[in-house]
Amino acid sequence: MGWRGSGRGSGVRVRVLAAALLALCAAACGPSTASDAPDGGASASASRAGFSVRYEPPAAPDRTDAAFLRGHRILERASADLAGFVPAERLGPGVEVVGRSCGGEGSGYAPDARRIEVCYDDVAQERALFAGAGARPADEEVEAVLTETAFHEAGHALADVLGLDLGDRAEEDAADQFAALMLIRRGAAGERQLRAAAREYELSAAGDADTASGAGARDEHSSDLDRATRHLCYLYGADPARNTDLVGTRLLSRERAGRCGQEWRGVREAWQKRLG
Ligand SMILES: [Zn+2]
Repeated sequence: MGWRGSGRGSGVRVRVLAAALLALCAAACGPSTASDAPDGGASASASRAGFSVRYEPPAAPDRTDAAFLRGHRILERASADLAGFVPAERLGPGVEVVGRSCGGEGSGYAPDARRIEVCYDDVAQERALFAGAGARPADEEVEAVLTETAFHEAGHALADVLGLDLGDRAEEDAADQFAALMLIRRGAAGERQLRAAAREYELSAAGDADTASGAGARDEHSSDLDRATRHLCYLYGADPARNTDLVGTRLLSRERAGRCGQEWRGVREAWQKRLG
């Protein structure tokens, strides 16, 4: 299994290229390049149990965004939730959750290093997206999306560690479902975060349509609009009373909403079964 991106923003394709270049370099550049390479931490991360959080020094343009990620304890809180849900014995060796500057390459999961990477620069990207829709300073929305991204990548980490072998698209959908599950487990506050994550997909889809780059799936992930609709469907399925306003909207038809309870229970049970 290779790099698993979040499918958010414009960096995914760049990321694939960067990974390919890194692989080439690993073969050709020799050990002298490894002095401060992130891969140097792979053995260290494997010796840590559970989900451990670490921050790389930010590139100069990312300092404020790195401070935001750290200050809101987004990764620490996500890791604590994961530790409370994923049985330690199922996880085996640890998974690192790393905040870092990615130069716009996008957050993702690196199976070789068992490392979830959440990008400081995603903070600026998401803030700009929500600001464009009139939300300023959009702190809550940015925190929600970064949290959902961390949980999505944790879903990939679990697929890797548990050897789920679902196939690319099914694994992406399972990772989205894992993110929804982890947020809904937070109760009303988490449901608001999942709404913000769905809104982000909706805004991304609109942005893609505007720039004529296509609103469809840009990689193995489902299309942004499908991802938004499913998140809303899980919200309604999990708690119809609190989320009744989502029904009969552009994304969630009444007809679809009628199936969301069953859909949500299937999602929850599938992950509970995988985690034993
Ligand atoms: Zn993904």
